[in-house]
Amino acid sequence: MSALRKNIADMAGYVPGFQPEDAASYIKLNTNENPYPPSPRVIEAITAEVGEGLRRYPDAASRQAREEAGRLYGFDPSWIIMANGSDEVLNNLIRAFAGEGEEVAYIHPSYSYYGTLAEIQGAKVRTFGLSEAFEPQGIPERYDAKLFFLTNPNAPLGFTYSQNYIADLAGRLSGVLVVDEAYADFAEETSLELVRSLDNVVVTRTFSKSYSLAGMRLGLAIARPEVIAALNKIRDHYNLDRLAQTAAAAALSDQEYFRGCVAKIKETRAWFSAELEKIGYHVIPSSGNYVFASPPDRDGTRVYQGLYDRKILVRHFTDPKLSHGLRISIGTKEEMERTVQALVEIGPGR
Ligand code: PMP
Repeated sequence: MSALRKNIADMAGYVPGFQPEDAASYIKLNTNENPYPPSPRVIEAITAEVGEGLRRYPDAASRQAREEAGRLYGFDPSWIIMANGSDEVLNNLIRAFAGEGEEVAYIHPSYSYYGTLAEIQGAKVRTFGLSEAFEPQGIPERYDAKLFFLTNPNAPLGFTYSQNYIADLAGRLSGVLVVDEAYADFAEETSLELVRSLDNVVVTRTFSKSYSLAGMRLGLAIARPEVIAALNKIRDHYNLDRLAQTAAAAALSDQEYFRGCVAKIKETRAWFSAELEKIGYHVIPSSGNYVFASPPDRDGTRVYQGLYDRKILVRHFTDPKLSHGLRISIGTKEEMERTVQALVEIGPGR
């Protein structure tokens, strides 16, 4: 198709985690979904919303959800935009800030979708590696990338950057630092205060992990009102449907349920990490709802296959920087017990 833009023709496209047709027959630990259902309040609210009212367009400004988020995080709703999954707002940040040929940067390994989104836009992608101690390498002292995406906690590795490091990085950038906090609810720290104190920091969040709403496609960004106003010009005007808006507001309003789920996942994460270490795995201490672990023989492919054969799905990356290990989402305690059992059967490989 000769009319196709060259950058689209040339790009590989992002491949999300494998979705088998018979997903229900697997222990599915490959896309960091939450093993617990959404709050009963969400189910009630969506159920009440399903009816003849669906003939009306949703609120173009997602006011109820933004007000609920504002109360929770301590920001005026003018600092908040709701998104159809945090992927949508990552995309719109690139569309707002990075023109053709301009630079978009991120750490590798982290969430490679930033690169795909930048390629679609025709922006230039630059990645920075990590030292053994997970310190980003080679970022210029004064750096003029339009956007820098920092995944904190890092995915897939699970470590976190300190708030001091993040503030320092923001100070070195003439562009915008986007702190992707998809997994921050499972961590001890957040950069929300930096959004208030520094004028080039944006934080993004998702409802897909800690709020058990991956199927609804919900995310948000917190940023200065002028950034939010720009993002509002770009997004689809009705970017969140009525059910998603209702679900978002209900989920945020039920903090007790939310805290209970997060606590269970953190407890299971600690238990699972310790069990893996007992069988000789190297485990990176994780602040997300997943752990990155490597078997003693550092053959991620072998263990991935062994788990797959036992109907346990985890994430294996072919990237040579990551292929020695696996990213394993934290499921229920029972799912993780069965995973440990399977790993014992599969053996250390040497
Ligand atoms: N950021 C990171 C680091 C992620 O891992 C994911 C989920 N794959 C997202 C953003 C996107 O999340 P959402 O489901 O809200 O689009």
